[in-house]
Amino acid sequence: NTFFLNDKVALITGAASGIGLATAKTFLAANVRGLLLVDLSQERLDRTLLELSSDERQRCQCFVADVSSEAENYAQRALELWGKLDIAVLNAGIVHAPTSILDTDAKIWDKIMQVNGRGVFLGLKQCGKVMTERKSGSIVITASQLGLQGSPSLAAYGASKFAARGLALTAAEEFAPFGVRVNSVCPGPTITPIIDALKEDDGWSRMADQCLMKRLGDAREIANAILYLSSDASSFCCGTSLKVDGGYAKF
Ligand code: NAD
Repeated sequence: NTFFLNDKVALITGAASGIGLATAKTFLAANVRGLLLVDLSQERLDRTLLELSSDERQRCQCFVADVSSEAENYAQRALELWGKLDIAVLNAGIVHAPTSILDTDAKIWDKIMQVNGRGVFLGLKQCGKVMTERKSGSIVITASQLGLQGSPSLAAYGASKFAARGLALTAAEEFAPFGVRVNSVCPGPTITPIIDALKEDDGWSRMADQCLMKRLGDAREIANAILYLSSDASSFCCGTSLKVDGGYAKF
C-alpha cells in the first residue's frame, strides 16, 4: 500500500494545532517511523503530545521554532535524529482580521508575508538542501484556495498563499532533477482555531454556503490529501496544486 509511510521520516511545521496536528495523527496511523513536530512554543507541543498514545509519542520528537527565523534548522534536526528526511510538510501559517486593502496596515502585510511567505521559502531552502543531497524526498506546502483566486478582505493572506503556491511550483522545477517532488494543497475553509474569529456575524455559515458541499471542511480531510501528496501514492505528482475545498473555488 503506497499510502503507508513505513520506514519514512517526516516533519510538519505548525504541528501543534488544526491541519498540522491532524496531519501528524494521520502520518502516525500510516506508520511513519519518525516524526518531527515543529511549532512556536514548547507548551503547545507538550499539549499535542498528550493527545497521542504512548506508541505514537515514542515516534515523535518536538522542535520549538519560528519558521520565519533563519536560525531555526528543523531539517537538520531531523537528520541528526534519524539520519534522513523523507517528507516535509510546510504548513505553519497565520491569518489577519478581514479588512479591505484600503484599511489594511502595511505592518499586517509584513507580518503575514514574514510567516506565510518567508517561512515557506526558508523551509524549502533547508529541507530542499538535505533532500536534494540524498536525491529523494517529498515536500508538501499548505497553500489555500485563496492562493488560486482573489480574496476580498483578506488581501495580504491571499497574496501570501499565491506566494506559497508559487514557491511550490518553482521548487518543483528546481528539485525534480534531484528526485525531490514538491506539491501544494489548497484547502477551503476548514474548522480549526485559525477561523475561530470568523465564526461571529454568521461568517462560518456564509463560507459554508459558498461551498458546493454546503459545509466547512474537517482538518482530517485536508490531512488525507497531505498524506497522498507526501507518500509514494502520488509518485507522479510534481508541481501539483491539489484543491480540497468542498467546491469553494469554482474551477
Ligand atoms: P491553526 O492556527 O490551527 O494552526 C497553525 C499552527 O501554526 C499553530 O499551531 C501555530 O502555532 C503554528 N504557527 C503559526 N506561526 C508559526 C511560526 N511563525 N512558526 C512556527 N509555527 C507557527 O491553523 P490551521 O487552519 O491548522 O492552519 C494550517 C495551515 O493551513 C496554514 O498555513 C493556513 O493558512 C492553512 N489554511 C487553513 C485553512 C482553514 O480554513 N483552516 C484554509 C486554507 C489554508
